[in-house]
Amino acid sequence: MESVAPDNLPPALPLEIFRLVVEHSDAAISITDREANILYANPAFARITGYRQDEIVGRNESILSAKRTPRHVYDDLWRTIRAGRSWRGELENRRRDGSEYLADITISPVFDENGELTHYLAMHRDISLQRLEEQRARTVALQGLLAEEERNTALREGLLGALFRLEEPMNVLASAVRLLSLRNGETATTALRQALADGRRILDELRASVPQEEPEAVAPVNINEVLHDVLSVSTAKLLKAGIEVEWRPPATLPALLGRPIALRCMFKALIDNAIEAMDLPGHRRRELRILTRHQDDLLLVEIIDSGVGIPAHQHLRIFEPFFTTKRGPGQRHLGTGLPRAQQTASAHGGSLQLDAAIDGGTVARIELPLHHVSE
Ligand code: FAD
Repeated sequence: MESVAPDNLPPALPLEIFRLVVEHSDAAISITDREANILYANPAFARITGYRQDEIVGRNESILSAKRTPRHVYDDLWRTIRAGRSWRGELENRRRDGSEYLADITISPVFDENGELTHYLAMHRDISLQRLEEQRARTVALQGLLAEEERNTALREGLLGALFRLEEPMNVLASAVRLLSLRNGETATTALRQALADGRRILDELRASVPQEEPEAVAPVNINEVLHDVLSVSTAKLLKAGIEVEWRPPATLPALLGRPIALRCMFKALIDNAIEAMDLPGHRRRELRILTRHQDDLLLVEIIDSGVGIPAHQHLRIFEPFFTTKRGPGQRHLGTGLPRAQQTASAHGGSLQLDAAIDGGTVARIELPLHHVSE
């Protein structure tokens, strides 16, 4: 008769095999008591954490904490494993030499033959490099997406602006044709009338070829993540301009219902403006501060630069389409960034305001309601 091993172990598989598998595993494996005091750690644990096996046994797993994982993650971890279920998540860990890494960890409870929870088994991997690669790939993809969006917007708004301006000479032409036909009769104006009709037809064709704005779906958006993305995309520019960035995102910020790409474009336009206001020859103070917080049903973001500021007489005009303070040799500003950013804020039921910062420079204040379902 075939022997059946207890706990569904395959028959005739010696326990030694299990020990070897654990010893040779690439994942850091540790076994702890119910208070997370380490009873066993495999060689990969020593490789990843830098603690030798003989010095880690008897220590608590909390020795690995870099004290950067939010408390609620640990609370969830302990609630889950104490209830007898496995927990998987990411923890910010610190090695013996003080360097930090991101651990992808699974912690499982171990029960004795009476069903009593006696130990915990943890398996973790260092996923810092993988996360960095993911972040890099994400930044490149986002850069492409935002650049494409900016190109489309510039093209659309450039064309619409040109069309708008062409209306005026066309109207002058139309009045001239009317006057001429009154004075000189039909024959003299036929050619002009034809030219006007052709002009109108071309204008209509041009209007029809203006790329349409694709409606973007509304989704829960994490503003910390949006700002993080925009800063990653702008890292090269910030470094090149020698700008110091100060941003301490709150650990938790409620998600708002909004359009993720439009919001990224809005913050990118504001951060690009801030960079340009500081990256000027001879301008010394180059500091960009970002504040994010939430108050009742509102998310508040402030982007504070130490740039040249906006002259008082231009404050009223900066949100006008096609108004720019930066048109000059080598600069190709269309002046649609701020009006568009303001349009995005109001499409989300919020507002965007620019003020002079206390110690010079400009503060862009954005208020966004959490639950506005934008049209
Ligand atoms: P606390 O969260 O206050 O924990 C300090 C110690 O108090 C704990 O380690 C534990 O001994 C005890 N404790 C806390 N809450 C409970 C509870 N609800 N029930 C019983 N005892 C409790 N954390 C990491 O940061 N990195 C890791 O790699 C990691 N691996 C772990 C592996 C296992 C198997 C287990 C069980 C836990 C692991 N933890 C890990 C969680 C770790 O035990 C701490 O909870 C965490 O590091 C927070 O540390 P702290 O200093 O803030 O203290």
